[in-house]
Amino acid sequence: MSDLRLTVLAGGVGAARFIAGLVEAAPRAEITVVGNTGDDFLVHGLHVSPDLDTVTYTLSGRADEVRGWGLAGETWATLSRLRELGAETWFQLGDLDLATHLRRTALLQAGWPLSAVTAELCQRLSVPVRLIPMSDQPVTTRVHLEDGRDLHLQEYLVREEATPPIRSVEFQGVGEASPGPGVLEAISGADLVLIAPSNPVISIGPILAVPGVRSAVVAARRVAAVSPIIAGRAIKGPAVAMMLAEGLPASALGVALAYRELIDLMVIDGADSGLAAEISALGPRVHSCPTLMTDQGARRRLATEVLRAAGVTPAAGGRG
Ligand code: GDP
Ligand code: CA
Repeated sequence: MSDLRLTVLAGGVGAARFIAGLVEAAPRAEITVVGNTGDDFLVHGLHVSPDLDTVTYTLSGRADEVRGWGLAGETWATLSRLRELGAETWFQLGDLDLATHLRRTALLQAGWPLSAVTAELCQRLSVPVRLIPMSDQPVTTRVHLEDGRDLHLQEYLVREEATPPIRSVEFQGVGEASPGPGVLEAISGADLVLIAPSNPVISIGPILAVPGVRSAVVAARRVAAVSPIIAGRAIKGPAVAMMLAEGLPASALGVALAYRELIDLMVIDGADSGLAAEISALGPRVHSCPTLMTDQGARRRLATEVLRAAGVTPAAGGRG
């Protein structure tokens, strides 16, 4: 029996690191992760799910923590041969990573839904949480630029290095999407729903936009968010530019504004404790503590602080 049911809404790296801390902080908890698939795209005919893979690789101890993405021990022979053959290679795919995308694509082509494929990959890689894609239907995050271009999120982030000014962000297909199997149940059945430190616009935004998810989070027992913004900056990625494009201040206050209808608790970095009064005036309780997850110890301490501040106490001891 598990002592605690925790459900995490998750993007990529920040979320994966936070969840790695949570697994240690609450070893007996039943942890369900709802993963963003708005980043998914087809490359060389393969279905790539960057955020699901970041969670999978990190939680199975296979992530390259130094590079900050992809797999440890990765090699790049296939990519260089693809370049020789005239393929576009701005999206880097390592040889080991390609195995994931080959397997995912083959199972999808055999008719498996993405949720079943994800469960299979997680089982094969011994991922210690249940990871569910936000939807089995395709949802594609598109970025509309000030210069009139309309790009897939990956073209914007990787090919354009997230530099052109953004007008707006769109989650194409989300209106027709339904939540992945078990997503709504995991949210409504959780003792605590956690919004991971991920980009609120492009990582958490698509999950909340899947019909039914936002209202399930509003109705959830307890909801806590961890700010991905520390002292007005993202640790990585274009969260600041995207928040500004959405009319949000680029700070922990902006994160709280994005989630104001959802959260009971906002966890911000100690560097932002000066924003606590303004944030709590929006409604949620505020807890400030170190939120920079420099190593596994820092991840576990952050997760422990968040659980404690949210008023849930995990049992100690082995998983079971
Ligand atoms: P992806 O990793 O590029 O797929 O994008 P995400 O939105 O999932 O993750 C990037 C976000 O995670 C950025 O907004 C970062 O500020 C945040 N992040 C990454 N590492 C940390 C960390 O150690 N602490 C906190 N608080 N946020 C982090
Ligand atoms: Ca991502």
